[in-house]
Amino acid sequence: MTPTFDEKIEPIYQEVLSRNPGETEFHQAVREVLESFGPVMVKHPEFRDQRIIERICEPERQIIFRVPWQDDNGQIHINRGFRVEFNSALGPYKGGLRFHPSVYLGIIKFLGFEQIFKNALTGLPIGGGKGGSDFDPKGKSDAEIMRFCQSFMTELARHIGEHTDVPAGDIGVGGREIGYLFGQYKRITNRWEAGVLTGKGLDWGGSLVRTEATGYGAAFFVEEMLKVRGDSLEGKTCVVSGSGNVAIYTIEKIHQLGGKVVACSDSGGYIYDEAGLDLEIIQQLKEIERRRIKDYLNYRKDAKYVEKGNIWEVPCQVAMPSATQNEINGKDATMLVKNGCIAVGEGANMPTTPEGVRVFLEAGIAYGPGKAANAGGVATSALEMQQNACRDSWTFEYTEERLQQIMCNIHQLCYETADEFGTPGNYVNGANIAGFIKVAKSMSALGL
Ligand code: GLU
Repeated sequence: MTPTFDEKIEPIYQEVLSRNPGETEFHQAVREVLESFGPVMVKHPEFRDQRIIERICEPERQIIFRVPWQDDNGQIHINRGFRVEFNSALGPYKGGLRFHPSVYLGIIKFLGFEQIFKNALTGLPIGGGKGGSDFDPKGKSDAEIMRFCQSFMTELARHIGEHTDVPAGDIGVGGREIGYLFGQYKRITNRWEAGVLTGKGLDWGGSLVRTEATGYGAAFFVEEMLKVRGDSLEGKTCVVSGSGNVAIYTIEKIHQLGGKVVACSDSGGYIYDEAGLDLEIIQQLKEIERRRIKDYLNYRKDAKYVEKGNIWEVPCQVAMPSATQNEINGKDATMLVKNGCIAVGEGANMPTTPEGVRVFLEAGIAYGPGKAANAGGVATSALEMQQNACRDSWTFEYTEERLQQIMCNIHQLCYETADEFGTPGNYVNGANIAGFIKVAKSMSALGL
């Protein structure tokens, strides 16, 4: 059954649909958040009077720009760049850049919208934003990537700044791209200001643990969800989709906490290794050589590769979707639950469809939505900004301790808020409501 909105919220959602035609991912993200808000409006009528929900659903600023670049053969290409500066009530706009052919305004808006609540949950002073391009980095040479990043930043530079808007990475944007973007920003502005981007290299203003942060944080979050159920990751069989930065460090932390990850994937298919994945091989293939996951078989003969296979058919107790949006549908969720899955921690943003979310919630398993479970990445970006602001760099141990504490706090806040609003154990409501209240209170205090 499709849950209905509180009758006061339905017209707000209808308004979002008509103002943003065709942006289906954005509609999905808004709907999922608004569905939690019925009881909030009862408790906080002042938010309704001030039309806070309507205001939160409309980005403060949306920038769309042309990104022309030349390939290695001298041919000219034109891509589209985006930066959606969604909400700055809590701090400068903060959120990653995604380079992927599927990118259009609706994807950037869904990501930016999610980012508002995620960033609020971290308890750190960061607003919400997101950007990117429909540029496809797959198969491009290093020089082409550099030229694209330079062209992208040539326009973006005028809109960002350490107190204004601080981009970082997302799908298709890692340390290499941040380097080219930072170099161009510095060149154009004649300012060496580390705080303008996060995810930087350690030699030029980056923070230890930032690379690992999203994956580590997601594993910490799952550990907390299991802890309140008297359980832990120790001895659990896990499946982690994807094989990018988030997946790799999710696998590493699960292994450190005593779990066993048996499968991961890329857009070509998934690998299954009953003995537990050998992370060193995956890192070599993916981080250094930029190859396909199926090449794992060259190193581990006992492993299995399932071309175009559905990774959610692999039985597991813990599932960590860490690839992209809508990668778990209702059927996948049903299959996971039937096969004994007791916890889901989302490393990716909105990886579960609304039907899938419903299946997890109805089954009563521990389900940690992305805006809570994957907040460790952006939280550590905020720690990078702190270090940049005081020209300092912290140790790995200290930074990881801060990350772990932040993830525990987010878990606690979501857990208690879910309880307070009458849906114990429902982290979706907990995260949506707790994130919203923080932003709403600030928007109210700051005036129209
Ligand atoms: N792209 C990441 C996210 O979805 C990180 C953003 C950041 O560090 O600003 O939260």
